[in-house]
Amino acid sequence: MQTPSLEDTLGRALHDLRISVTDRCNFRCTYCMPKEIFDRDHAFLPQPELLTFEEITRLAGVFVSLGARKLRLTGGEPLMRRDLEDLIAPLSALPGAPDIALTTNGSFPLERIHSLKAAGLKRMTVSLDSLDDAVFKSMNDVGFPVAKVLEWIEESARAGFAPVKVNMVVKRGVNEDSLLPMARYFNRPETILRFIEYMDVGASNGWRMDDVVPAREIVQRLSAELPLEPLDPNYRGEVAQRYRIGGGPAEIGLVTSVTQPFCGDCSRARLSADGKLFTCLFAIGGTDFKALLRGGASDEDLRAAITGVWQKRADRYSELRTAQTTNLPKVEMSFIGG
Ligand code: SAM
Ligand code: SF4
Ligand code: SF4
Repeated sequence: MQTPSLEDTLGRALHDLRISVTDRCNFRCTYCMPKEIFDRDHAFLPQPELLTFEEITRLAGVFVSLGARKLRLTGGEPLMRRDLEDLIAPLSALPGAPDIALTTNGSFPLERIHSLKAAGLKRMTVSLDSLDDAVFKSMNDVGFPVAKVLEWIEESARAGFAPVKVNMVVKRGVNEDSLLPMARYFNRPETILRFIEYMDVGASNGWRMDDVVPAREIVQRLSAELPLEPLDPNYRGEVAQRYRIGGGPAEIGLVTSVTQPFCGDCSRARLSADGKLFTCLFAIGGTDFKALLRGGASDEDLRAAITGVWQKRADRYSELRTAQTTNLPKVEMSFIGG
């Protein structure tokens, strides 16, 4: 029997845990890890600071016992962490069989897809910002080609991960022209394309409101060429607004964090690679669970600590976003986990 969900000060339950397994990445996406900042001199976390797979599994088990149903592995690039399959297997064997998802840039050898599946991975989300090679290469800033990511998406669908979610961050003047080609290409039952408003996460991407293409504008631009039918949310707390492309099999989603915030339903906790618990993507600080784990805390101590953090939670950054808050020294997305 699972404990009834924990609720925070705004009555929001704890349903999802996003686990960042590394702060490193083989890409330097300009909106996430700009290479001028994440360069050779950048201090990434040293190996001993990362939670081990055993520590992550133990903590995740406590989250699941408190009502978390979905565990998403992210980063940085989660597949940069060697043998990630060895984490997925024990996570998927936790009591209550939580749903295990992965967000990846899809730049790894295709065999990994099958080993991830065999280990118990249930869902795959792949990031791809354009079908235009020059645009994509300049956005990932390491010259990685579109074709390889498309192969990863196709192979994932074939391996049983359909529908594969495809995340496209939309940045004004950078990949706006890719909106329609992406919507047409991914109008297929094996994929769900999601347009994500460019967010002011972290403090290094030089975010400006002018760089955001509001979801409403994305819908207008797509519907000028393609018939879009709005769909009802699948469940309370679903972050994406959904549409079906009329006549086509597929649905698309819009993640409207900037222009139409959805904090009221936000049920996500985030664990950084070094074991800090954050209750908002835009948090300035987190609670150190690595110290608890390594200091001999019992499962009961961990439960009490998580409960204490969640019950105090009052975050609603996106609803309060102002010119002042966007300049705060927030934690980077590659650290906290997107
Ligand atoms: N490396 C993996 C990947 O790119 O899929 C997982 C980590 S990444 C931080 C998770 C998601 O966050 C990606 O889909 C990425 O496009 C998105 N993201 C990163 N920076 C963002 C920003 N400033 N605004 C909106 N989305 C962002
Ligand atoms: Fe790496 Fe993902 Fe950030 Fe791009 S969005 S730099 S792939 S962590
Ligand atoms: Fe949740 Fe914070 Fe995003 Fe609001 S701003 S939806 S509280 S992560």
